[in-house]
Amino acid sequence: SLFRNAKFEISIAKPGDLPVPDGAEIAFAGRSNAGKSSAINTLADHTRLAYVSKTPGRTQLINFFRLDCGAVLVDLPGYGYAKVPEAIRRQWVSLLENYLRRRENLVGLVLIMDSRHPLTPLDRQMIDWFLPSGRPIHVLLTKADKLTRNEAAATLAAVRREVAPMGAQVTVQLFSSLKKVGAEEVEHTVAGWLNL
Ligand code: GDP
Repeated sequence: SLFRNAKFEISIAKPGDLPVPDGAEIAFAGRSNAGKSSAINTLADHTRLAYVSKTPGRTQLINFFRLDCGAVLVDLPGYGYAKVPEAIRRQWVSLLENYLRRRENLVGLVLIMDSRHPLTPLDRQMIDWFLPSGRPIHVLLTKADKLTRNEAAATLAAVRREVAPMGAQVTVQLFSSLKKVGAEEVEHTVAGWLNL
């Protein structure tokens, strides 16, 4: 599968340290605690590939993982963490903005949202920064196991309605790392971005 055997390559803390583009990049972003690390670990079938320190105030990093197909999974720092100083939060968000707006080998964005709190203002900000690239955004509504089947279906429909004005560039699906639901749909979508 696409994400299996993903191998850690490097971590960086500031835009100036971004590696020279080498292969198509697929970025994973999401609000802190949305379930991004769990989703990456589930997709990679690896329990601790994306291990994020939850220590407040700790500098977060962009982590790069090489996939078997040669593409790169880029794990972006979680945003919106309430317990860090405003100045540090602003630094992370500016790193995200820079990366999403300028990275020429970034072919698509997987945006992780907690299905109980989708499309927060910062989620919309990430979408707004990336949309002008014309490249696809795939929204994972994760922790879907915490919703009833009806609630999950209603949330999916509501989020799809919200992003409909953005056209086919934005797609949405349900996901659960706990129940391992939705992995094939993500893989299929991202494989399409990579023309695999
Ligand atoms: P991150 O900060 O976005 O990387 O979030 P994590 O992956 O560390 O997940 C945050 C919390 O949500 C942890 O306690 C996880 O165990 C939990 N979590 C993540 N994904 C799921 C899921 O699909 N279902 C359930 N029930 N809990 C999840």
